[in-house]
Amino acid sequence: AKDLGKNNFCYYTSELSSQIQKKLAIDMALHNALEKNEIYMLFQPQYDLQTQQIISTEALVRWENAELGFVPPDKFIPIAEDSGTIVSLGYFIFEESCKAYKKMKEAGVDLQHIAINVSSIQFKEPHLLDTFVSIVKRHNLHPSEIEIEITERFLMDNTIANINLLQSFRNYGFQISIDDFGTGYSSMSYLKQLPIDTIKIDKSFVDDIADGSSDNVIIEAMIALSKTLGYQIVAEGIETKEQEDFLGQTHCDIGQGYLFSKPISSNEIIARFSS
Ligand code: C2E
Ligand code: CA
Ligand code: CA
Ligand code: CA
Repeated sequence: AKDLGKNNFCYYTSELSSQIQKKLAIDMALHNALEKNEIYMLFQPQYDLQTQQIISTEALVRWENAELGFVPPDKFIPIAEDSGTIVSLGYFIFEESCKAYKKMKEAGVDLQHIAINVSSIQFKEPHLLDTFVSIVKRHNLHPSEIEIEITERFLMDNTIANINLLQSFRNYGFQISIDDFGTGYSSMSYLKQLPIDTIKIDKSFVDDIADGSSDNVIIEAMIALSKTLGYQIVAEGIETKEQEDFLGQTHCDIGQGYLFSKPISSNEIIARFSS
């Protein structure tokens, strides 16, 4: 039994160090990924649930490396956040998303805005707002066409400072959306004081929507409260017609998910949605 314990220990340490090595390899490759043109954006349509028309898209980053292959953002974004690479990566994401949005609109896609994910680490960069404003202007866009998606967690730490920071973005006209809503710890009463425009209900709640069930009270309450507070509501991860129907009946404004479309290139958006 003692021998087994020792082997287990060795197993865990080598497992751990190989995990660290993998992270290091990802971080090193990520440092050169921008120069090597390995990073690009895809766009997932967001639908107006009443009119069934495309209204917006969410920009989602993709990375394909020669050695590592396709690395999903869930994996490399946290590593880029730890190393600080997210700052330059985040500017690239913002720039490319503005450029593609402009192109899609000019090609006749009827978009009201584009949603761009911004990491809480990026907000620590003192020139974030200035730089975003200058990028938006350079593309002849208005900040109100940009919806910044932040996670609920961002509002939980360092609350007052972060709320003021968000308000300064809103003062310029940027729209603010809370991503993955319902997965953090924000209390419902606190919700009404936030400088936000949109609430994005997390996929886990959409997954729970059961056909004809009385079980849907939580998501119903979330939508009703958000409406009362005047926020726009987006539901993400819609995969079935039942979920779409329920959300439409519950007066959720916007829907996004594989039922409508997976994330696709800006050229595919144009091919499918320009009029
Ligand atoms: P997120 O912001 O919550 O993005 C939604 C994720 O759900 C995306 O995964 C999207 O492809 C996926 N998704 C959309 N509809 C469905 C559906 O119906 N079913 C299922 N199973 N999945 C669906 P993706 O692109 O792999 O991104 C994962 C996460 O990585 C994002 O979660 C976000 O946290 C982060 N991320 C992606 N792109 C960016 C970016 O440009 N900047 C930052 N900071 N983070 C990003
Ligand atoms: Ca998002
Ligand atoms: Ca989300
Ligand atoms: Ca998520």
